[in-house]
Amino acid sequence: MSAARIGVDEARSLWLEASDDELRRLAQTTRARFHEPDEATYMVMRIVNYTNVCVAQCDYCAFYVLPNQEGGYVLSQKDVFAKIDELLALGGDLVAFNGGFNPKLPLDFYCDLFAAVRSRYGDRVEFYALTVAEFVYLADRANLSHAEAAARLRDAGVHWVTGGGSEILTEGFRKRHAKFKYTVREYLEAQRAIVESGMRTTATMVIGFDESLDERLEHLQRTRDFQDACLRDGFDGLFSFLCWTYKPYGTAFGGREVSPREYWRHIALSRIFLDNVRHVRTSVLTQNEEAFRALEYGADDFDLPIEDEVTQKAGARIDLDLDGLLAIPRSLGYRVSYRRAERPTALAGL
Ligand code: SF4
Repeated sequence: MSAARIGVDEARSLWLEASDDELRRLAQTTRARFHEPDEATYMVMRIVNYTNVCVAQCDYCAFYVLPNQEGGYVLSQKDVFAKIDELLALGGDLVAFNGGFNPKLPLDFYCDLFAAVRSRYGDRVEFYALTVAEFVYLADRANLSHAEAAARLRDAGVHWVTGGGSEILTEGFRKRHAKFKYTVREYLEAQRAIVESGMRTTATMVIGFDESLDERLEHLQRTRDFQDACLRDGFDGLFSFLCWTYKPYGTAFGGREVSPREYWRHIALSRIFLDNVRHVRTSVLTQNEEAFRALEYGADDFDLPIEDEVTQKAGARIDLDLDGLLAIPRSLGYRVSYRRAERPTALAGL
C-alpha cells in the first residue's frame, strides 16, 4: 500500500483531465513497484463453457438459453476432458470453467466434475473452477452458507474461484442489467468466504455497457477496499485484476464497443488506483492485438485464450497463432515469459 494512494476524486480528475502520456507515466510508476519495467507474463488457457442454460437473464449476454429452450447443452466429463487434452496439446495448462446458472445442475455435479479433473490431470492442469457469480448461485441452490459451499469445492480439489461475473459492482448496474444474478453485498461476502477457505481468487471488471464514470470508480473502490480488508486480516486476497470490454453483438442490450484508447486509459487508471493488487491483466480475448499496448499503461500479464463461447457469441475473435501474438509484446520491448498458475499457499499440503 502506498502513502501516495489516490482517492476517487483524484481518480475522476485524472480520467477527465490527464493526457495519455501522464496516465501512462503514473501507471508505469505503480507497475514498477511490483514488476520489472520490461517484464510481462502470460498463460495459454481455455474457457470451458460447461452449460449454456441459464436463468439469470442478463441483458448483455448473447450466450445463454433458458431451461427447456432449444439449443441448451451440458458438457459431459468426456467432453470436458477432450477440451483439456486439446489445450495441453497446444501448450496451455489453465482451464477456466464458466457457464450459466443451470437449475438442473446441483453443487454435487460440480464437485464430481472438479474432483475428476484433479484426479485425471493432477497438477499438470490448473483450473479456475467457477466464477464468484456462479458460486453465489450454487451455494444458494444448495442451501449452504458461502463458507460451507467453499469448503465443499476446496475438498473436491478446487484451488481457485475467480472473481468473474462481476462486470460493474454497483447495485444500480445490477438492477439495470442483471437483477436475478446477485447483489453486490452477496458477491463480496461470497468472495470473502472463498478467501477464508484457503482458495484463491481474482478481481475482474468489464467496461463498455452504459456504466457512468462514477460507477467505474465505485467498482475500483470496492475492489481496493476488499483487498485492504484481506491483507489486514492476514489473507493474500486478490491475485490479480483483469479488465475486459463488453462485446455487444447479439445481446438484448446492444450498444457499441469502447475504443482501444479508452481501454488503455482505464487500465492505467486501474493500475494507479489498485495499489494493493500485484497483477493487472490485459484482455487479449476482447481487445486482440490492441490488448498488448495496455502493457505500456500498467498491465503486466495476459492470457492467450483458445476458446470462450460466451464472448465469441457476442463478437469476440480468437486467434490461434500464439507465436504471432507473442511477437507483438516482444516488438514493444517486453521480455515475455510463461506463468504457471500457482497453488495457493494455504492449500500447499493438500
Ligand atoms: S452472463 Fe452468465 S449469468 Fe448472465 S445470462 Fe449470461 S450465462 Fe447467465
